[in-house]
Amino acid sequence: MTEFELIRRYFTRPARQAVLGVGDDAAILRPTPGHDLHVSVDMLVEGRHFFADVDPVALGHKTLAVNLSDMAAMGATPRWVLLSMALPQLDERWLAGFAEGFYRLAERYEVDLVGGDTTRGPLTLSVTVMGEAPQGQALCRAAAQLGDDIWVSGELGLGALAVASRQQGLAEQPWFTACRQRLDYPTPRLELGHALRGVAHAVADVSDGLLADLGHILECSGVGAEVWAECLPSLPAIEQQRATLLPYLAAGGDDYELVFTAPVSQRASVAAIAATVDCRLTRIGRIVVGDKAHLLAADGREISLQRSGFDHFDQA
Ligand code: ADP
Ligand code: MG
Repeated sequence: MTEFELIRRYFTRPARQAVLGVGDDAAILRPTPGHDLHVSVDMLVEGRHFFADVDPVALGHKTLAVNLSDMAAMGATPRWVLLSMALPQLDERWLAGFAEGFYRLAERYEVDLVGGDTTRGPLTLSVTVMGEAPQGQALCRAAAQLGDDIWVSGELGLGALAVASRQQGLAEQPWFTACRQRLDYPTPRLELGHALRGVAHAVADVSDGLLADLGHILECSGVGAEVWAECLPSLPAIEQQRATLLPYLAAGGDDYELVFTAPVSQRASVAAIAATVDCRLTRIGRIVVGDKAHLLAADGREISLQRSGFDHFDQA
């Protein structure tokens, strides 16, 4: 099979959202009038972002999901994606699985794969996603205000616990299956991102760790935060080990939940949104004067963690 047969067989499907999709020198897209275009790119490298033996269906899902999560965090609707891949060999079983996971998620959110690039090399995957939101309605990191509540969707720490339990051989833990599912098949919180337009001030997705990603909001907004350790949402099975697993909840990456700030006056709206989306929303702290996040125990004492999140160039 040649490179072009590979693209035709596995990565060419009718474009519903594009004027012209895969197969020409460039795709042709027609943004909706009155909307801003949102663009973001992410790269996944074997051994760094995923285990070498990961199920290709899961990898196809995750490669797209992490990008859709960025659109969710902007309150944007993803419409088009480009897929660049370096593949060590032409493995048809792997390609079929990867394409299945990728397209299943793409179709669920009506996103078109409109082009990409394919080359031989160490397994590396990169998706560029383009989405839209009505002009001026994007949810930016710089918009947190003093007194805002801080909220987070779903549960925290699952992705990081799955990685740690694999690396440290903790597979017998009762929470392992749920954590593994989250690591392999994260759900981009797109419905939530949309619903937060006009309600939330600042939004970010939790890809590197709650305190790290909240930290980006704080830095961009010029404010500080207190975060209540006992309020960080997790699974019941993890709850029993909350004290020892706190670093995973507060600083573990790979969850793809949304952390957002909203004025106190929007609490009823946030509760109404929680009733319509398929994840819970938990109030975990508030925006205060300062320049960083302070993690507080129930008695108000500050808890200091070794690190706030994942950093590819961290020497620790
Ligand atoms: P060029 O030589 O102009 O870079 P390519 O030969 O790389 O074009 O690609 C041919 C067509 O296939 C283009 O439309 C490109 O966008 C598309 N394409 C290449 N790789 C992928 C991929 N992995 N997924 C989707 N489309 C792809
Ligand atoms: Mg090319």
